[in-house]
Amino acid sequence: MRTANRSPQELLAREEREMQRRFSALRRVRQRPIGVVDVPDRRRTSLFDAAATEVLEQHRDLLWQRLADRSRAVTEAKERIRQGAYGICAHCARPIPQRRLRVLPTATLCVQCQERREAALAA
Ligand SMILES: [Zn+2]
Repeated sequence: MRTANRSPQELLAREEREMQRRFSALRRVRQRPIGVVDVPDRRRTSLFDAAATEVLEQHRDLLWQRLADRSRAVTEAKERIRQGAYGICAHCARPIPQRRLRVLPTATLCVQCQERREAALAA
């Protein structure tokens, strides 16, 4: 999809809609009993069930966590728009390039600061 002419508000609103969609999909999955999904009865064992259930639950929790993080990032980005701080690097206070914001509308750091932070975390 072309995003070149979209405002940050539009990009964030789109991100929000996408997350709502994923949240409700995940919520539906959450309500379903897990561990009995897509496994033919004759091949199931209690051991397999337990292991599969654990993996699926971990995966689901991880997805949920990631969505919650993104959701928070969108809320914070909208707050920055209100405060007039949107698109300003939280570390060096230089403008974050539009190119980067189009790809990642919730970015809080410019590319250089992001890279420095990742390098520091990896060290
Ligand atoms: Zn910066």
